Amino acid sequence: MHVFNPYEIRGDFPLLSRGIVYLDNAATSQKPRQVIEAVARFYESRYANIHRGVHRLSMEASEAYEGAHEVVAGFIGARSWREVIFVRNATEAINLVAYSWGLSNLGRGDEIVVSVMEHHSNLLPWHSVARRAGARLRIVGLRGDYTLDYEELERAVTERTKLVAITQVSNVLGTVVDVRRVARLAHSVGALCLVDGAQSVPHMPVNVRELECDFLAFSGHKMLGPSGIGVLWGREDVLEEMEPFLYGGDMVREVRYAGGALEPSWNELPWKFEAGTPNIAGGVGLAEAVRYLQRLGMESVRLHELELTRYALKRLSELEGLELYGPPPELRGGVVPFNVRGLDPHTVAALLDQRGIAVRSGFHCAQPLHEYLGLREGTVRASFYVYNVKEDVDALAEALGGILTLLMKEAVAGGK
Ligand code: PLP
Repeated sequence: MHVFNPYEIRGDFPLLSRGIVYLDNAATSQKPRQVIEAVARFYESRYANIHRGVHRLSMEASEAYEGAHEVVAGFIGARSWREVIFVRNATEAINLVAYSWGLSNLGRGDEIVVSVMEHHSNLLPWHSVARRAGARLRIVGLRGDYTLDYEELERAVTERTKLVAITQVSNVLGTVVDVRRVARLAHSVGALCLVDGAQSVPHMPVNVRELECDFLAFSGHKMLGPSGIGVLWGREDVLEEMEPFLYGGDMVREVRYAGGALEPSWNELPWKFEAGTPNIAGGVGLAEAVRYLQRLGMESVRLHELELTRYALKRLSELEGLELYGPPPELRGGVVPFNVRGLDPHTVAALLDQRGIAVRSGFHCAQPLHEYLGLREGTVRASFYVYNVKEDVDALAEALGGILTLLMKEAVAGGK
């Protein structure tokens, strides 16, 4: 398998020229020149509102925006681009399903099953609609090696289950979930399966038909694309049955005014779920980001990150005073959470920042997971992407080594 040369592609990312060691990719990724230029070119030469006019510019913009749906559909193996709905981000995608599908399909006694490692975005929408509908949220735990407890999941999924909502890759531990197994389990009791792909779609091959899921949510900004554009993919027959989430322009086919009352009928997919003027340039930028990733090859992206993760775990495990969390590298994405014994995560992140290294600290929008693991103050998280190289890991390891030495000296001085 040909893995791209990460040193070569670094030149595509203007921000990296600032010299910052960027290891906060699970929060958001940097953007290649190709994406930045595609967005600028679109504004400079083809910009107008979509689906609003018969004039040339509007038609060109509509074509570009619709084409972006096709590019994304191809990337995730969707049967049709009409199954691809552009939203703001993964959070909005999940809320769309929670409010549109959830509020019409959940009732008293029904259950939604999630895992304890979900991001707040895949917990709180379900918590909210479950409360409104009188349904119950069941939360499945992990095994000792930080992988999903599939046996517990099997016990939790019953005839009462209406939906299993699960992340494919944990944003904290990197744990990769066997989503097909989860989807099959959900279907065996007649439930649907929603996959939070925010941390998987940017980092590994994802094909919705192979996953056998019913919904997939992800964000453009974590996969080299602009912020403010994300995707909900849904099975066409399920989407057809759902009520719109937001109401307004473009989601409606016509609104008759008969006998003094409004009689709207909804537009076809995906427009039924894309009310109002969308993030047109964001869609164009996302398509360019997808093309960039396709040129690298998603298998290669996964292999590159696996190699970096293995290397990081090796380097960091050599440091005394560091606690590492998460499953073995083959079972995790490019995410390495840790703590420095005796320092809170934010202090560690601030000290790393002083040494030119950007990492995330705190609960990473997954506070229940941290409580479940007994990590009251959170964790520090280093996360990798296509432009990271071994030297970035070396810089992290050396900076942490320096911090640990300082701590030790202070402890010795304090003990005098
Ligand atoms: N799900 C997971 C696993 C995430 O890591 C994130 C973001 O960190 C989200 C959902 C939410 O993504 P966004 O903030 O782009 O909506």
